[in-house]
Amino acid sequence: MARIVIVSNRVPSSAARGPQAGGLAVALKDCLKDGGLWFGWSGETAPQTCADVKIGSVGKIDFATIDLSREDYRQFYVGFANSALWPLLHFQPGLVEFDRAHFETYLSVNRIYARALAALIEPTDLIWVHDYHLIPLAYFLRALGVENRVGFFLHVPFVPASLLSVLPRAEKLLRMLCAFDVVGFQTHEHLRDFEDCVRNMLNVTTDVAGPIIVDNHPVLAIATPIGIDARSFARQAKRSAHSRVAKRLDESMQGRALIIGVDRLDYSKGLPNRFDAFGRLLDRFSEHRLKVSYLQVAARSREDVAEYQRLKRDLDRRAGEVNGRHAEFDWVPLRYITRAISRATLAGFYRKARVGLVTPLRDGMNLVAKEYVAAQDPDDPGVLVLSRFAGAAEDLTEALIVNPLDADEIAEAMHQALTMPRAERKARHEKLFEKICQTTATTYCRDFLSALLGGPYDVLT
Ligand code: UDP
Repeated sequence: MARIVIVSNRVPSSAARGPQAGGLAVALKDCLKDGGLWFGWSGETAPQTCADVKIGSVGKIDFATIDLSREDYRQFYVGFANSALWPLLHFQPGLVEFDRAHFETYLSVNRIYARALAALIEPTDLIWVHDYHLIPLAYFLRALGVENRVGFFLHVPFVPASLLSVLPRAEKLLRMLCAFDVVGFQTHEHLRDFEDCVRNMLNVTTDVAGPIIVDNHPVLAIATPIGIDARSFARQAKRSAHSRVAKRLDESMQGRALIIGVDRLDYSKGLPNRFDAFGRLLDRFSEHRLKVSYLQVAARSREDVAEYQRLKRDLDRRAGEVNGRHAEFDWVPLRYITRAISRATLAGFYRKARVGLVTPLRDGMNLVAKEYVAAQDPDDPGVLVLSRFAGAAEDLTEALIVNPLDADEIAEAMHQALTMPRAERKARHEKLFEKICQTTATTYCRDFLSALLGGPYDVLT
């Protein structure tokens, strides 16, 4: 069987390479079960970016990493990737900060990654590249004569042509994206938006079965939603609900209903509106005063990007406002934490929460929505309130679907969730749980790699 080579901007650090691995590592664990290579940035900066690779291994997986210079980190990662591409792909053109020098560095870092990677691969390797930092990688690999099958999966949303074309150099970037053999998206909507870009910006026909041809190269575009291992997360939640911290949470709640939100502190997550919505719940549905507490975990992220610093100041202020206005001497309505909490602990917290609030303005998928559903007690489940603009909403239609810009609509959905009869909660949860068991981390890897291989790829053999 072909060796799998995973390429992602961040490679799990040594500490996170073992059983504690999270996020992408968890999703990819089945397809790396028989071994493979994982290549990318070490997370370290050095005086110079160079293609010298550090190699390590854990079990059957080899890890190959390179360091970035501080200046390349600033221009490539903080700059073009996270201050131009990220806001654009999350439908926030007003937040795009484009700098031509940053774009050139984005290309040159991808060229260096391609050179380092080309020296490590065998002719039969399947190369699977992840996310928006690495859009030009296949283009530079081809320029070095690499003929392997190379696929790309975009974890964030994609945008239609009317929005992508706002970005200077967008056409060049789109052509580079089409140098992959397979391009995968989280949802059918993102896939349609990609096709819209190819049609309207590159003047290429997309109404064909199979690959579309761009610059004489066939590229197959597919939707392969990412998922979690729902059954094992459910078991974890059941265990963690009895942990010492979960008991402390219980005691502190004093019989009140828990509303939970778990996000990175990111402007795409719709947190300011969510805080406003909670304030409106307490204003408009006063029966919930003193009876609920809302716990928002907002794990700090990308603190060297100015927009994230602004957002944190804004949320600190809003949290203070909500509590200042509504709290009683023995009741803090909003508990706001800007540190990360371990996924294992969160599993138990989700299980205790009567409402899961997931209201991003845009999100590629949103795994928290799936984790919240997986963690519920099937006999007495909580209710998911979900933004229609999270990728997860394409499938999880039995959640209470809201427009995240409408604080009143979110408040009404919270009220509906808090007062929903148990029979309805159970019926909705049953359908949602069935769905998250169908689209898992395993089906995600299997479907993407089958498309890349051009035939069935069984990740479990
Ligand atoms: N997460 C965590 N601790 C935190 C906050 C988040 O472990 O304090 C995890 C969460 O359980 C989920 C992931 O981080 O698995 C977030 O993924 P999601 O798709 O929801 O959002 P992203 O951060 O990728 O935009």
